[in-house]
Amino acid sequence: MTKHIARYVPPLRLHIAEALHVRLPQEFQPELKKSLLSARAGVRGERSIEYYLEDYTVNEHIYLRDVRLPYGTHHFQLDGLILTTNFILVTEVKQYAGTVTYDPDLQQITRLYDNELATYEDPLQQVKRAVRKLTTWLNLHGFPPIHIEPCVIFSNNSTPIELANSRASTLPYICRPGGLHDRLHDLFAQHRNPWGTMADVRALYEHLVQHHVYELPSYSDNTAYAPYIKSGVRCPACKKLMSYSRPHWVCRCGRRDRSAYRQALYDYALLKQSTISTREFLEFAHLSSRYLSQLMLNEVNLPHLGDRYHRRYDLSPFFRGEIIP
Ligand SMILES: [Zn+2]
Repeated sequence: MTKHIARYVPPLRLHIAEALHVRLPQEFQPELKKSLLSARAGVRGERSIEYYLEDYTVNEHIYLRDVRLPYGTHHFQLDGLILTTNFILVTEVKQYAGTVTYDPDLQQITRLYDNELATYEDPLQQVKRAVRKLTTWLNLHGFPPIHIEPCVIFSNNSTPIELANSRASTLPYICRPGGLHDRLHDLFAQHRNPWGTMADVRALYEHLVQHHVYELPSYSDNTAYAPYIKSGVRCPACKKLMSYSRPHWVCRCGRRDRSAYRQALYDYALLKQSTISTREFLEFAHLSSRYLSQLMLNEVNLPHLGDRYHRRYDLSPFFRGEIIP
């Protein structure tokens, strides 16, 4: 029996890339394209793991992705965690296009794509670091010792991977999505004694989710774009500017929508800042009155800070997936 828990974590990197794509003028589009495509590929890669895991019915497990845990004065990020009664598998998904050469001795990945050679950090070292941190973290939080294993998954099945140095010691830690079942099977054979029951696994899951720290966009990365970001509410169908004619947002393409402003609010949170005032929203959404601005902000049910005259609405529920645009 499989236990599969879907926890919605907004893919921030992709959402920022999409917001920039919609809100920056044409001349920026070539340079945005690369990050948009790689963000889309990353999300596709992670979803493909979920797809394969849904089919894994041999042993009960809980899968959760995008966990960020506090660690000293910093945080550490876990791409994916497969929690079982016998072990934890920490996954790091890599979705490369082109031709990839993995050199575990030199601890690097080189990728040839579009005649361009790029070098990346060894993903196995990355995931091993995460394993060490998770071990310490669980120990500090009073959990019994649990076997924690690393796994790098090259999710793009059409990308050939070459091993520069064929080291047998590395091979068990890298796989394709299709090899994940075998990897789990081997680990259950290897770790025969459970560290707890399925109820303990669920308690571990709850504990991890409870301590997860949501990420905020790094606004300083986009300061160069800031003066060029186009404001206004965009049509969900054609991305052109909409105007407000109560109670709808209307577009020249014929689309009418009551809640199109919610995406504008989310875009503002992704690109500008994580709080907004009535005046700032009025300007960003091109509204004609403070009354309308406040009405819409109240409708989204955002927590607010400050007194009546200096009220700021907190947009962080969007990042936590609690409000969906
Ligand atoms: Zn339209």
